[in-house]
Amino acid sequence: MAEVIQSKLVWAVYLLHLLLLISIHGSTSDSISSEGFCAVNSGSDCGLPSPYTKILIKGGTVVNAHHKEVADVYIEDGVILSVRPNIRVPDENIRVIDATGKYVMPGGIDPHTHLDMEFMGTATIDDFFTGHAAALAGGTTMHIDFVIPINGNLTAGFEAYKHKASKAAMDYGFHMAITKWDEDVSKDMGVMVRDHGINSFKFFMAYKGTLMVNDDLLLEGLKKCKSLGALPMVHAENGDAVVEGQNRMIDLGITGPEGHALSRPPVLEAEATARAIRLAAFINTPLYVVHVMSTDAMEEIAKAKKAGQRVVGEPVVSGLVLDDSWLWHPDFTTASKYVMSPPIRELGHGQALRAALSTGTLQLVGTDHCTFNSTQKAFGLDDFRKIPNGVNGLEERMHVLWDAMVETGKINVMDYVRITSTECARIFNIYPKKGAILEGSDADVIILNPNASFEVSATSHHSRSDTNVYEGRTGKGKVEVTVSRGRVVWENDVLNVMPGSGKYIKMPPFSYLFDGIDKSNAAYLSSLRAPVKRSSAAS
Ligand SMILES: [Zn+2]
Repeated sequence: MAEVIQSKLVWAVYLLHLLLLISIHGSTSDSISSEGFCAVNSGSDCGLPSPYTKILIKGGTVVNAHHKEVADVYIEDGVILSVRPNIRVPDENIRVIDATGKYVMPGGIDPHTHLDMEFMGTATIDDFFTGHAAALAGGTTMHIDFVIPINGNLTAGFEAYKHKASKAAMDYGFHMAITKWDEDVSKDMGVMVRDHGINSFKFFMAYKGTLMVNDDLLLEGLKKCKSLGALPMVHAENGDAVVEGQNRMIDLGITGPEGHALSRPPVLEAEATARAIRLAAFINTPLYVVHVMSTDAMEEIAKAKKAGQRVVGEPVVSGLVLDDSWLWHPDFTTASKYVMSPPIRELGHGQALRAALSTGTLQLVGTDHCTFNSTQKAFGLDDFRKIPNGVNGLEERMHVLWDAMVETGKINVMDYVRITSTECARIFNIYPKKGAILEGSDADVIILNPNASFEVSATSHHSRSDTNVYEGRTGKGKVEVTVSRGRVVWENDVLNVMPGSGKYIKMPPFSYLFDGIDKSNAAYLSSLRAPVKRSSAAS
């Protein structure tokens, strides 16, 4: 009976897949790139789930965050069963992949994305299928997206995102934003942690009037997060001052994309970063700062870490390798595609962020993949405040980072694994199920050829966007094979992805960042030397 149900399920998934592929190939008007997708009429078993549930990756250099060795990796039913040299498996029904001279690494985990998110009067153009297709083609096999509550309601937001993610083609987890505060929100945070596997909450210190929280709410949120063992995250920019800066630019007649960068300078990012760090220190809770874009904000994090505070800084690829000169480009379509918040900074910031990443001051790399096509960006043709904020990166992150960090000698291959997957898995408490090539880990594996080259272009990428902020970028190091949950989904520049095949990964609370917080709390309480017992003042 179970088998019958299973085979019916497989066919249902297959038919769904077929329909989706047809819809991808049938529509050209919405700029979906069909290149690289497994074509429906190409014969063989293209589009069907791979018949192989057993994979042997032979002879590659297997890289983990703290060790590398030449070894084979044997995978069965989506799990890594063995990692050692010269594995022999007496079974004919095995897919053998030669990885000699190449690196075999955990698939990337992107801690910061916004798929299918309603924002600034529109919605991001990549959903949980096209975003996943792009990710897998670029060697990323899991991401953590931000659930946005609906009118402040966490449960409604979670249900909506569950629905959006039903077409997932790879594994994913959720953070959740907190946009208002009352008894229900406080209670629902506990429900999200206990019942739904969410272990991080994000507070926007910018976007006044929509997502922004004030210090009062931030303090309540930090306390609640601490009690739940959930990691508070902040978008650190002073939202009040951003509005002031925007008004200043409009008064000066600066309405183009350059006004975006000019209206929210690094000082506003540094102020909010410092404020969040100090409030987290006051509450005694770990803190995660998303998209660190400036030297100024990075230095606040460095200072806090030096003082022993648990602050995680996350740069994003755009902040690491791009500079803001693009925002002054005379062509609006070109300039507007670089609009994101906090803004991409002047030349020099990226270099400082890369240095901080190489020394561990910044710990892991996200993308803030939040794509809008040129038509959507044009909403702000006459007013930069109306340009939807966001850039791409989900497909490019692994390649661009390899080229910018490993090829240049700034970090070694083990550090590369650490900043692209392992650290993320540890922080969000899913290591070593994710972020490792170890016996028992999920079979999310990439094979990277350090001698091959990559090239980025909107005409060949898998995002639905018609632009790419890394347009024309080439470099060394190419992800030639992506294995997701034990299935080869990317090989020979062809994707074979299946909607609905991705799984929701529950993330338990109290990651390593919370170890010892109870002890430092106790030390704080005993340090107070209070209340002082006094005799009655009147006597
Ligand atoms: Zn974001």
